[in-house]
Amino acid sequence: MKYRIGVLSVQGDFAEHVAAMNDLDDVEALPVKTAEAIASCHGLIIPGGESTTIGKLCQRFGLDEAIGKLHADGRPIWGTCAGLILLARDIVDSDQWRLGYMDIEVKRNAFGRQVDSFETDLAVAKLAGGATRAVFIRAPYVTTVGDNVTVMATCRDKIVMVRQEHLLGCAFHPELTDDRRVQQYFLDMVKAAES
Ligand code: GLN
Repeated sequence: MKYRIGVLSVQGDFAEHVAAMNDLDDVEALPVKTAEAIASCHGLIIPGGESTTIGKLCQRFGLDEAIGKLHADGRPIWGTCAGLILLARDIVDSDQWRLGYMDIEVKRNAFGRQVDSFETDLAVAKLAGGATRAVFIRAPYVTTVGDNVTVMATCRDKIVMVRQEHLLGCAFHPELTDDRRVQQYFLDMVKAAES
């Protein structure tokens, strides 16, 4: 069977996520931007971009309800960068709209101006085979996590990857490198949720 993985495509680097996910077997990844398309997916990716814009468009197109239904059904959702911000319950100094499903607080554009964007080798828990190359672009980090949240990676002593049950979030961009282990990890979450 092919697992249908939607990439929320209202703004941001959704095309890269679709292409990266489609590198894997057993996957049909596709851009989604309607409630019907979202409802048909086994899993959803919320890409990097501008979290305030993605949030506004989600509301305007009434997508928040469809995403909420996936979440309530335990279907995996993976947010990268802006997507991680949208999954967070709390955002430092911001009242912008968010989905708020993860018991975490994030800080936007948190690594500071001198290191606006950078790449580094990052050790990620649960990924066999050593560090992955991680690209950070005006990235957030996670400032606090709830008891049910697992920290999967830290960079410069800051939390940059987290998992809470069927929710996965990372501050960096696995869709911009050739390593597909994070995509495979998310696919395994999707497969587990369907079994
Ligand atoms: N700085 C962006 C935001 O706050 C996130 C950056 C990204 O997704 N690459 O929404």
